Amino acid sequence: MGIWLGLVALSVFGQADYQALRKNMVDTQLKARDISNLATLKAMGKVPRHLFVPEKMRIYAYSDGPLSIGEGQTISQPYIVAYMTQALKLRPGSRVLEIGTGSGYQAAVLAEIVDSVYTIEIVEKLGLKAKKLLKSLDYDNITVRIGDGYHGWKEKAPFDAIIVTAGAEQIPEPLIDQLKDGGRMIIPVGPHRGVRQLVLVQKKGEKVKKKNLMAVRFVPFTRKKE
Ligand code: SAH
Repeated sequence: MGIWLGLVALSVFGQADYQALRKNMVDTQLKARDISNLATLKAMGKVPRHLFVPEKMRIYAYSDGPLSIGEGQTISQPYIVAYMTQALKLRPGSRVLEIGTGSGYQAAVLAEIVDSVYTIEIVEKLGLKAKKLLKSLDYDNITVRIGDGYHGWKEKAPFDAIIVTAGAEQIPEPLIDQLKDGGRMIIPVGPHRGVRQLVLVQKKGEKVKKKNLMAVRFVPFTRKKE
């Protein structure tokens, strides 16, 4: 039970009722739009997004937009997280690679659906923080690595699905190579200044099919100096 106060649901104790906020997010931002995949909706309804944002931002965690997570990086809008997750057509046995761990939120959503998630973050401070948080939440099917995701994760390849959560100017070739036959990758592609396209890449035998899904804004994909 709680009362609605603008965006913030308060429990009888005056604390923000995160479960109510989360349910509201799923209903009004996801179901009301085009998110219909049950596993995605269930995962989004379960992962405590407020724990993945800085403490003073918690009451905004379930609002309909991206939020700053420090180090100049952002956690994507809930709708975008759900949209990208749904587009991967995951199955419980899928092995997934994420480039751009950030807060670890997207990795947690994936880990609710599949057996194993591998995620790479280039900013050490963020990667270590996400690793610690995910461990404290008992996500033992997520492996976090610090490094440049451009090269993918050869030892763990091939992947059923790859999700890139930083905007790239081009699709990194090693990621296409590490996708399974029949695998799907979703990646924002376009110039660093301006709007990018969320691209769905599908690998079928020797063929690589690319489809633009929608216009998006993402923080840039960066590279480590070799
Ligand atoms: N998926 C994240 C949001 C990520 S924001 C979440 O759910 O919170 C994009 C992240 O990609 C940033 O943390 C950024 O540091 C990281 N990144 C950018 N370029 C990268 C690269 N080459 N390899 C790995 N991570 C990268």
